Amino acid sequence: MGKFKTPTHARCRRCGRRSFHYRSRRCAHCGFPDPKWRKYRWTKSLKERT
Ligand SMILES: [Zn+2]
Repeated sequence: MGKFKTPTHARCRRCGRRSFHYRSRRCAHCGFPDPKWRKYRWTKSLKERT
């Protein structure tokens, strides 16, 4: 296993998950900085965790 030297995801300000992609400047989980959340059926429950 290689070490993850290059971080690809940072902490997202909106969803709090480490899904904010450095290169694309976008959260893989909630779509930040898009004003609207990425919507899927399963995100309904995640909304409560915010
Ligand atoms: Zn997010």
